[in-house]
Amino acid sequence: MTAPDRSDNPFFRTWETPDGVPPFDRIRAEHFRNAYARAFAEHDAEIAAIAAQPEPPTFANTIAALELSGRLLERVGAAFYLLVGAHSDAALLEVEREIAPPLARHWNRINTNEDLFRRIDALMRAADRLELDAEQKRVLERYHTTFRRAGAALAPAARTRLIEIMERLAALGTAFSQNVLADEQAFALALTDDAELAGVPTFMREAMKGEARERGLAGHAVTLSRSSALSFLQFAARRDLREKVFRAFVSRGDNNGSTDNKAIIAEMVELRAERARLLGYADFAQYRLDDAMAKTPAAVRDLLQTVWAPARERALADREALQALVQEEGGNFALAPWDWRYYAEKLRQRRCDFDEAAIKPYLTLDRMIEAAFFAAERLFGLQVEERTDVPTWHPDVRVFEVRGSDGSQIGVFFGDYFARPSKRGGAWMTSLRDQEKLAGDIRPVVVNVCNFNKGSGGEPTLLSFEDARTLFHEFGHALHGLLSAVTYPKISGTNVAADFVELPSQLYEHWLEQPDVLRRFARHYKTDAPMPEDLLRRLIAARNFDQGFATVEYVASAMVDLDLHALAAPGAIDATAFEREALSRVAMPEEIAMRHRLPHFGHIFSSDGYAAAYYSYMWSEVLDADAFAAFEEAGDIFDPATAERLRKTIYAAGGARDPAEAYKAFRGRLPSAQALLRKRGFAETAVAH
Ligand SMILES: [Zn+2]
Repeated sequence: MTAPDRSDNPFFRTWETPDGVPPFDRIRAEHFRNAYARAFAEHDAEIAAIAAQPEPPTFANTIAALELSGRLLERVGAAFYLLVGAHSDAALLEVEREIAPPLARHWNRINTNEDLFRRIDALMRAADRLELDAEQKRVLERYHTTFRRAGAALAPAARTRLIEIMERLAALGTAFSQNVLADEQAFALALTDDAELAGVPTFMREAMKGEARERGLAGHAVTLSRSSALSFLQFAARRDLREKVFRAFVSRGDNNGSTDNKAIIAEMVELRAERARLLGYADFAQYRLDDAMAKTPAAVRDLLQTVWAPARERALADREALQALVQEEGGNFALAPWDWRYYAEKLRQRRCDFDEAAIKPYLTLDRMIEAAFFAAERLFGLQVEERTDVPTWHPDVRVFEVRGSDGSQIGVFFGDYFARPSKRGGAWMTSLRDQEKLAGDIRPVVVNVCNFNKGSGGEPTLLSFEDARTLFHEFGHALHGLLSAVTYPKISGTNVAADFVELPSQLYEHWLEQPDVLRRFARHYKTDAPMPEDLLRRLIAARNFDQGFATVEYVASAMVDLDLHALAAPGAIDATAFEREALSRVAMPEEIAMRHRLPHFGHIFSSDGYAAAYYSYMWSEVLDADAFAAFEEAGDIFDPATAERLRKTIYAAGGARDPAEAYKAFRGRLPSAQALLRKRGFAETAVAH
């Protein structure tokens, strides 16, 4: 499959770009096949040399050598997956399908390499006598765990089967996310009649015009990007159109055609269960959680149930209020899932005397980016400055230089904020280069990708409060990558347990909600006037509004994920029926849909990422609610001593410590779920914030 070497392939040259970022202006889809082929070959040769060396294993000749290997593969993969997610086309997607199985095979071969594991195992057994520092000990332990969990300690037949399973899972995961993307791209509801836009605020109409133009449609368009579809459900008065958008949104990956994901799900769940059995676990959830902060499915269920009961109760009470509103307006129908957001918005306006449309003109993207940078300056002394000399993958992408308080460079930050058809839905942080000190003083290059609707016709981009929260969330992840100060790549930045990785991001959201920050940065896009104080007060008071709904839609997804992966022998499950039964067991309110239905639940099926681990966001929320309270207790949301401790123990520490220990180092103790219940407004004894 290797075509002749092409000398213009940027992956075969030193990158003469500013800060050595990938030369995105010269990278094309066709470069990746050869680049991957060479990267695999180079890495294989390095691994073979480490495994076959005659010298007895030492940390340097085995662990550090592994850490230094595979650098080309890393560079190729980072650029490739950035483009596949943020700016793909048919050619890239074809390479992605092609590369997924050999890539999985490559890593499985390494992580199950017998000779390599024998060396790592010998080091692990002798760890106490090796005079390793704390970080080295942790890195060694992480390697040992990675290899053990990949099956390196298994008998040959079992190992071979495990590798087969992993390759198949990788191919299925790719197909899964491509199907969702195809369904998202296939749908656009074009609205050409003004009556169809009833209720839709002006700022949204502008964005919808842009979406229509981008797809070559006349008038306004609703798409299946989260912000487009959900804003429409929140505001559009036309019930029939809401139903249409809702049905399309929840049917992604569930349309029974060539893009249907149900068969893929059944096969993946079956293969994951087999994988767990091969590794000595009763089911996939137990296997997965063994290496998480939560440790066991029981601990996760405990948390989810603690939250579910009060959240469901709140949602049911809200449902009654919404139904009453329907009647009051003369509606003669039972509240349906496509009505919830619309009537909740009306109820919000009534209860909190506050509506999204009044807030949005004060939340411009540019100001919110500044706000995120401002909090980073106050907390961690970071200075951020925009650069225009760096190549990017799309003209809308912005690049920033990040410096420490002493002026020294910390890293480079890319912000790719706008929704477009070539971009996957959702928002995420990724890294083009991880911080480390092993191969020199390597500074991180991190990326935030979001899907905000771009203001059209030269108007500034206006965010919903939820969008602004997403911006802060992803920048919190970015800070986890940027502030990383470790030696070894294995534990750099966000390379931590899945149920710990959302702590830095969710914790960062708290600073958006602070009056001091909003007063300064929430300014009207036309007049630059700050948000009126009473509006600001109402916005903050509305924080707990509709938390029953938000918690129920999230926890439902987390419970179904856990149930599905707790099956010891799933057989040929029907994803739709499974979902229905799991939800009826917990008496899911019919008017609320899962935040992610299984057929498009990319978190758990596009890769292993959050499989049996979607609960992680809530687990991390237990931590973030409790962690932010440390600032409140100090009486200053930017308290320097607390911020410094936070930087040291959490943001800069990567995976250098066991997550529970890292948290204790910051807070002096482990958290309970009480802070979370208070934060969501479910605790009876509310604590003043
Ligand atoms: Zn996150």
